[in-house]
Amino acid sequence: MPTKSLRIIVAARKLLNSYGRGRIPTPLDSICEALRIRVQNTPDEKPSFERGSWNTPTGIQMGFIANIPDNADRLIRRHMLAHLIGHIYLGQGSCDYQEKTQGELQAIAFATELLMPSQDMRHYISIRPPFEKEEAAVIELAEIFDVHPRAMRARYREIRKGMQLQ
Ligand SMILES: [Zn+2]
Repeated sequence: MPTKSLRIIVAARKLLNSYGRGRIPTPLDSICEALRIRVQNTPDEKPSFERGSWNTPTGIQMGFIANIPDNADRLIRRHMLAHLIGHIYLGQGSCDYQEKTQGELQAIAFATELLMPSQDMRHYISIRPPFEKEEAAVIELAEIFDVHPRAMRARYREIRKGMQLQ
């Protein structure tokens, strides 16, 4: 499936290895700094990004402006930012948030791997109590990875399924 293509997963992993330094929760701030992405609030309902420049103490910085809806919940904002980082890092021109285009599906897959890296997910799942209820695991893992429980639930099921097939 192109949306889960290895290329996208590898790209997210490469970015994590370069700037995330294996830390959980994924430090989006450091990644934005490294990629010269500036986060800005927007009254729009959907996130977007554009090329831009801004003043810093050492001069004008060229980069990208990530516009994140200001009325969104903190964890939703975090997901939106990871999603925009995906577009920018993959060299895509714009975000058509919640459309089912290939670019959007790739940004979603990228954000999933960035926020809930498969290697770390497998590690954290493998050290949990064997007969633990799913919801307890989902809530705690959502806190560890600093993501929305709904996103973690889907990711948890996906990773668990993959682990059982091995
Ligand atoms: Zn998008």
